[in-house]
Amino acid sequence: MQHTDTVTPPAPARAGRRSVVVAGNGMVGERFLAELARTGLLDHIDLAVIGEEHLPAYDRVHLSAYVEGATADELSMADPAIRARPNVTELLGRRVDAIDRDARTVTLDDGRSLGYDDLVLATGSRPFVPPIPGHDLPGCHVYRTIADLDGITADATHASRGVVIGGGLLGLEAANALRLLGLEVTVIEFAPRLMPRQLDQPASDALRARVEALGLTVRTDTATAAFRPGDDGRVARLEFTDGSVLDTDMVVFSAGIRARDELARAAGLDVGERGGVAVGPTLTSSDPHVHAIGECASVDGVVHGLVGPGYTMARVLAERLGGGDVTFRGADPSTQLKLLGVDVASFGDAMADTDGARVVVWDDPVGHVHRKLVVSADGTTLLGGILVGDASGYDRLLRLTLSGRPVDVPLAVLAAPTMEDAGTTAGELHDDDLVCTCNTVTKGQLCTAIRGDGDRPGLHTMPELAAATNAGTGCGSCTALCKRILDTEMAAAGLEVDTALCAHFPQTRQELYEIVRVAGFRTFAEVLAHSGTGTGCATCKPTIASILATITNEYVLDPSHAPLQDTNDRFLANIQKDGTYSVIPRVPGGEITPDKLMVIAGVAKEFDLYTKITGGQRIDLLGARLEQLPSIWRRLVDAGFESGHAYGKALRTVKSCVGRTWCRYGVQDSTTLAIELEERYRGLRSPHKIKMAVSGCSRECAEARGKDVGVIATENGWNLYVCGNGGMTPQHAVLLATDLSTADLVRTIDRFLAYYVRTADRLERTATWLNRIDGGIAHVRAVVVDDSLGLAEELESHMAHHVATYACEWKATLEDPARLAMFASYVDGDGPDTDLAWVRERDQRRPATAEERRLLPVVDLVGAQAVAHRTLDEGAIR
Ligand SMILES: Cc1cc2nc3c(=O)[nH]c(=O)nc-3n(C[C@H](O)[C@H](O)[C@H](O)COP(=O)(O)OP(=O)(O)OC[C@H]3O[C@@H](n4cnc5c(N)ncnc54)[C@H](O)[C@@H]3O)c2cc1C
Ligand code: SF4
Ligand code: SF4
Repeated sequence: MQHTDTVTPPAPARAGRRSVVVAGNGMVGERFLAELARTGLLDHIDLAVIGEEHLPAYDRVHLSAYVEGATADELSMADPAIRARPNVTELLGRRVDAIDRDARTVTLDDGRSLGYDDLVLATGSRPFVPPIPGHDLPGCHVYRTIADLDGITADATHASRGVVIGGGLLGLEAANALRLLGLEVTVIEFAPRLMPRQLDQPASDALRARVEALGLTVRTDTATAAFRPGDDGRVARLEFTDGSVLDTDMVVFSAGIRARDELARAAGLDVGERGGVAVGPTLTSSDPHVHAIGECASVDGVVHGLVGPGYTMARVLAERLGGGDVTFRGADPSTQLKLLGVDVASFGDAMADTDGARVVVWDDPVGHVHRKLVVSADGTTLLGGILVGDASGYDRLLRLTLSGRPVDVPLAVLAAPTMEDAGTTAGELHDDDLVCTCNTVTKGQLCTAIRGDGDRPGLHTMPELAAATNAGTGCGSCTALCKRILDTEMAAAGLEVDTALCAHFPQTRQELYEIVRVAGFRTFAEVLAHSGTGTGCATCKPTIASILATITNEYVLDPSHAPLQDTNDRFLANIQKDGTYSVIPRVPGGEITPDKLMVIAGVAKEFDLYTKITGGQRIDLLGARLEQLPSIWRRLVDAGFESGHAYGKALRTVKSCVGRTWCRYGVQDSTTLAIELEERYRGLRSPHKIKMAVSGCSRECAEARGKDVGVIATENGWNLYVCGNGGMTPQHAVLLATDLSTADLVRTIDRFLAYYVRTADRLERTATWLNRIDGGIAHVRAVVVDDSLGLAEELESHMAHHVATYACEWKATLEDPARLAMFASYVDGDGPDTDLAWVRERDQRRPATAEERRLLPVVDLVGAQAVAHRTLDEGAIR
């Protein structure tokens, strides 16, 4: 390996060996080296890599992490194994200055020359600095390299104010960096909105509101006329074309990029109309020995400014140089990123340019969430979209768009932030569906890699899979889906599934629980900084939110917790198939007074909600719209109801029979105990839902042995059964302890539940947990009843903390206008058939079926706050 500029490069190439020179060692140049190694071509060539920067390739996409403390080593992407090869020469801190196409040599900035058979230009792009007077004053920077960031960081130590020129994607990244460096930041954008190329006005408004909420100032529609120096000669003031001025201590330009095609121009190669080395799908320039990949290439006139297409180009060119005939067929320009902590995604035909395209919008103008879907004129196909403030479900939406498959759920549901597990399941995908769009990896390719192929053994961990296929190594947004595919394949093959929580946390849920508990972390950011990598995903965020809620019992919609919750928890209600929500107040033990029944009846009547008794002995009110939830709950809370947590992974109900009070056979007061237990454990967040029941005698009318915690009365007290469930795989609860007094029973349940929430996996019910743990019920009994691990006191004190700190989430929400504002969303748009459609059946309102919707009169909504109700009587349809 050569990391200096003093070695003798392989010029001319050794006799009989083909010589390849790569100009530029950025992300795409480095990927090209890896592809040469993968295809085996590297064994047969002499390779020289010339990089102008002093560092070998690093992760420019995550450059901003450098400001947050990541080191250059951590960002490095350079493969030492490639550099260790004797036929590879790397020259860093050296620039290719000229190409002599006749002699097939390049000249470096130190005067040396290198011969080539094939020259690969991977010179990337440079930030565009508008030629405004004063743009080159000291204190003016660009944001592209680690060296740029070193300069910005050094300057920032003497500065308190910074200006970023450019409100695009990279401008906002730069603004965030300045903010992290402690500066007061103003973003200046020439266009009327932020991210003008990716976002339309409403989406941009949502982003702007969130950016401003972080304390940044945004000026759009603003053109800078000049930068003026202060007494020390450094930039000190901006003058705008409207005559206004702004004082600053430093400036960062992020006003777009320009392909670095200067070598090609000087050598007389064709360049694209908008710059870039002109190449076609073969990636070869107008000279058959010179090729271009990455951001410096203009492929059929298009310069791709994302890393994903560059990676595809690297693969295509390596295969072509090895004799293959693949071509570069363009790339999907979809992006998902987090800017200043704000989720932003744009995919497919985001601007609705397709003929007849219609738009469905889910907009929360208070919480600043804007989700727009673009659909075909007939409403059957998703064409693209924009998500700002909440990009949940992005992978599902992107894949629906790319596959062109018909949409089979109401568009209002698709547009809303997604449900629980937030993401496509492996089973939903076809083999040719793209999973990693950055690296063009399909589900089929992943499955082949996982299963193994011929002599190649299967790959069974995420790092192995990523190394072999590159999936998840670009922007990283597909890692959760890759993990789901890996787990599904492993389970299908009867193999033990990798226990890492997700690609961001190598620990299991139990390990993370212990880390949070012992270290006393209170936020996701703290846990991520301590134990994880990346930014988190739809798997780890709700899991850690649940752990934090279990341990701290803090309000789940606190600003630091709210973004982590999945949709049900975020709106404290269960989303239904038509996009409406259900309301289930708690009815402890199933006991309810006539007055409370009348309140429920009144609410159901007023809001025209479908009413049904649940299996847990309470009343489900279905069909509520998001913005109705606060009014409905205000009525219920005022009447003494509490949240039933039917939406959460938490205690659901404690079912009971009437017991000794009414029943001739009853030997204990099962109803009173059920109410006490329900009031004790209500709100307990857990790995999965928890159900309980209490029966007043062994006749078992409350079906306690089908519950996670089941109590059956005896002549002497209570028998306690645990780890039962109904559901898809029914399992009877098993006996844990017999003839307990009420106090002993409660203490044992305290310990049992605290031990379960501490040691279970994500989404693992008590029955599965019991089947998994070594020693089964004997172990649980030893820990919970006999205190074999000496944990009893700790488990009990956890539950005591829970009981002491419980507060009804709906009551807390209603008391705080800021929290209430989160519900002020509405479904809006001029899209087809996105409104709610109802049918009356058996005197109640229910969602119309797809067939019935066709018979209903069409109502198009444009910009209305309300959602249309289209209701037909059953008889009108049949
Ligand atoms: C802050 C930031 C955030 C980004 N975020 C994203 C994102 O979220 N998603 C995404 O897809 N993309 C993102 N990008 C863009 C992504 O980084 C680029 O698409 C990618 O780096 C392009 O790779 P490349 O190898 O073509 O060019 P580069 O990475 O720019 O590498 C080119 C290298 O060639 C060197 N070079 C140039 N001329 C010469 C010469 N004559 N001789 C020798 N060496 C030379 C340059 O110094 C440079 O090191 C981001 C970029 C930045 C700056
Ligand atoms: S379980 Fe026993 S006490 Fe309860 S209702 Fe049935 S028979 Fe009566
Ligand atoms: S049984 Fe199936 S259909 Fe019925 S409520 Fe449960 S999940 Fe829905």
